[in-house]
Amino acid sequence: MRKPYLAGNWKMHKTAAEAAAFAAELRSALDRSPYTVMVAPPFTALQAVAEALSGSSILLGAQNMCSEESGAHTGEVSVLMLKDLGVSVVILGHSERRHTYGETDELISAKVQLALKHGLNVILCVGETLEEREAGHVNHVVESQLELGLSGVSAAQLQQVVIAYEPVWAIGTGKTATPEDADSVHEVIRAKLAALYSKSAADAMVIQYGGSVKPDNIAGLMAKPNIDGALVGGASLKPESFIPIAQFDRA
Ligand code: PEP
Repeated sequence: MRKPYLAGNWKMHKTAAEAAAFAAELRSALDRSPYTVMVAPPFTALQAVAEALSGSSILLGAQNMCSEESGAHTGEVSVLMLKDLGVSVVILGHSERRHTYGETDELISAKVQLALKHGLNVILCVGETLEEREAGHVNHVVESQLELGLSGVSAAQLQQVVIAYEPVWAIGTGKTATPEDADSVHEVIRAKLAALYSKSAADAMVIQYGGSVKPDNIAGLMAKPNIDGALVGGASLKPESFIPIAQFDRA
């Protein structure tokens, strides 16, 4: 039985003080949740949020990291620095990294391998653009992003990985994939994981959906057999929307 996993990606929002106050509010509502709950503040707020969540069950995530451990990489943040702050999860391959900042599958793969080598858990994001969907390429795009993103990842390391299916056209647009559409892509993802690893490894994997998840659509999405959680952007920024998402009623 896969445990539901609800994650909030705060993107480039909240100062350290705002983030710490928000984290304290989330902690009082969500600590010891029966579900896995994670928040990914901006780098500058990681320390403050780590302190606010210290000793709680809410996981601390980062939104990105460098593909190198250290060195001359102006403006980058190392896996070692993240670990030092108590980060246990890193989101890699987010569509904004792929499409706004030009991250390739090869770069994402290097980041995935480095994060896993250092014991971080990874949320690997995959998903098609509207153009790719309209051209009928959804399955090909997600299968190829999975295969390349997971290259070099062993079956043992796969246990540290969660996949987030995030159709690019549904991110921050208010357009959600229907639960049926999302579930059918999740099924494709699970089948690809089974082909790359094994059916039992694929069956154990958490696959989150992301794209305009809100309190009023989370239960419908989570009722689908292949949807195991959500990666939430906009609605993760306020307690009145993230708390009900993270406390959705199981059908
Ligand atoms: C995201 O950024 O991962 C995301 C899914 O954003 P939103 O929920 O705002 O669509």
